[in-house]
Amino acid sequence: MKCRDYIFQLTSGQLEDAGTATQIAAWQHRMICFRCRAFTRNDRALQDMLKGYGEHLQTPPAPPAKPTDS
Ligand SMILES: [Zn+2]
Repeated sequence: MKCRDYIFQLTSGQLEDAGTATQIAAWQHRMICFRCRAFTRNDRALQDMLKGYGEHLQTPPAPPAKPTDS
């Protein structure tokens, strides 16, 4: 597995759905490649941040104030 393949699979989410062989290849690549290791760490942190942000965005807004009839 090359860095480009690894990064692509990681960022596209394919790694999570990949078969065992691919996951082992990815794991081996992280073991030998400190750049992808660092990238994975950053990517995970970013995903967590985005996830938290998404949940924040999905909280329903307060209902709009009803116009008074007067
Ligand atoms: Zn790499």
